[in-house]
Amino acid sequence: MALAEQVDFLVMGAGVAGLRAAVELADHGEVLVVTKESVAESNTHYAQGGIAVAMEGRQDVALHLEDTIGAGDGLVYRPAAKALVTEGPLRVAELIEWGAQFDREGGRLLRTREGAHSLPRILHANGDATGAEISRALVVFARAHPGIQFAEWTTATGLVVADGRVLAADLLDRDGTLRRISARAVLIAAGGAGQVYSDTTNPSVATGDGIALAAQAGAELADMEFYQFHPTALSLTGAPRFLLSEALRGEGAYLRNDAGERFMGRYHPLLELAPRDVVARAITREGMGERPGEARLVHLDMRHVRGVDLHQRFPGISAVLARYGLDLQRDLIPVRPAAHYLMGGVRTDLDGRTSLRGLYAAGEAACTGVHGANRLASNSLLEGLVFGARAAQSMLADALLCVAVEAPRPAAGPLTPEEEKRIEEIIAGLQHAMWNYAGLLREEATLREGIKAQESCAAALALFAQQREGKQGEGSRRLAEARALCHVAKAILLSGMARRESRGAHFRNDFPDRDDANFLKHSVLRRDQRIDFERW
Ligand SMILES: Cc1cc2nc3c(=O)[nH]c(=O)nc-3n(C[C@H](O)[C@H](O)[C@H](O)COP(=O)(O)OP(=O)(O)OC[C@H]3O[C@@H](n4cnc5c(N)ncnc54)[C@H](O)[C@@H]3O)c2cc1C
Repeated sequence: MALAEQVDFLVMGAGVAGLRAAVELADHGEVLVVTKESVAESNTHYAQGGIAVAMEGRQDVALHLEDTIGAGDGLVYRPAAKALVTEGPLRVAELIEWGAQFDREGGRLLRTREGAHSLPRILHANGDATGAEISRALVVFARAHPGIQFAEWTTATGLVVADGRVLAADLLDRDGTLRRISARAVLIAAGGAGQVYSDTTNPSVATGDGIALAAQAGAELADMEFYQFHPTALSLTGAPRFLLSEALRGEGAYLRNDAGERFMGRYHPLLELAPRDVVARAITREGMGERPGEARLVHLDMRHVRGVDLHQRFPGISAVLARYGLDLQRDLIPVRPAAHYLMGGVRTDLDGRTSLRGLYAAGEAACTGVHGANRLASNSLLEGLVFGARAAQSMLADALLCVAVEAPRPAAGPLTPEEEKRIEEIIAGLQHAMWNYAGLLREEATLREGIKAQESCAAALALFAQQREGKQGEGSRRLAEARALCHVAKAILLSGMARRESRGAHFRNDFPDRDDANFLKHSVLRRDQRIDFERW
């Protein structure tokens, strides 16, 4: 019997969480970091505004904790938030020592403010390219370590489980070769799932693979109904849903409706710096026309901002806008919300352990409860650093041994062009259904429509499987992604149906109020698709 290859630690994902974990693990064994495209293609790479961190001592940390808890609308798991804000300063100091260069003036780190933060505490790099700098620094540092190997352009397509323990993962490379790698411990750091929606700020790799693979292996998911929609993505026909960072509002941008009115005063006392879900819903409502489907433009306005050179402060955003003939200093910028960040994910304890032995999760793919029902802006890069390191520490502490497993059968061949086309149609149908039925404003009837669309997606994918029967082993990255999206969509829909209240990023037209008596709890999606609500 041919056996699978072995490494000590397998890390699925090369964003901030996976890389930080890999660095922690590398002194103790061989680490393989797998990433679907190049190491630079991740949500981390596209993060603009910055990383929130309280580096000014105890009072600063206490305020960061309160802001995080406040944004999460009653559901933040306090011990997780405490770990985030207290360990954050050390993790960021380490990152600086390893070479990350944040913006400074006269040697002092510059800080900006974003929505729902009581103080300016967001560090940024190259103006609005913070994620790219963090990713660059971590990749350089990790590549210099002889214990870390990278497998780029490689997609994890399955987990091997026996007796409740994850033993190995299947990896499909660019040439269609399927390898099985067994490991002492596997970390899911495969990021979010913005691609489940037709409108998203996330890059194409964000298809929720890690979450789906963990769930299919039997791990519990939590809080999947909470998808954060960023209020201000560029809204121009033919342009990508490019993110216009919250830092623009931190520097004084106003939101105006098509009548030119600065409308946020009607929605929240913090105006444009209100929590994201409030701003996103306000923009959606202001953007609704008289008739169904009719849209009115909402704009971001920085024309009045003085004392800041907007092109220098936001060079990346300015360059993208210039491609469309727009200028922050001169023009109104059309915006509308887009799916941005998943608060839910693979349920973990504070140390990254999932409900399956040998399987750990960190970063956007994980749910520690740190964000509750709504993430505080710029807390997720910090989450990746803090919980990436913590997950690695528990992977070491658990000291599991590698178990030999059988090598996989060869992968099925690539899809034909017709099959590729069909898969793209299925994915697009699902994405539009999720946007229309499980987006910013949901209700029982729309969620039921969403379930119907998800079921027809699942049926179409099952038909594919039948047609490719006998050719075991995933041969197409896109097919694997379609399956993952379909799985994640179902988790969002079921969790959204179960939470019959409105809280944080989850807004139900039919239950517009918060219902603490019944729902001041986290939703947990079990292996058998049952949803339980638990107080953590
Ligand atoms: C446009 C944008 C702007 C943002 N701005 C900010 C900000 O200013 N501040 C902030 O704190 N947060 C911001 N965020 C959110 C933040 O960037 C992410 O939440 C965070 O970077 C997630 O890190 P991660 O390591 O968990 O996952 P990611 O950085 O998304 O990395 C996931 C990795 O997993 C890999 N992967 C996925 N599936 C597979 C598979 N099947 N097999 C192998 N590899 C796989 C991917 O290739 C990638 O390497 C922003 C997000 C976006 C999209």
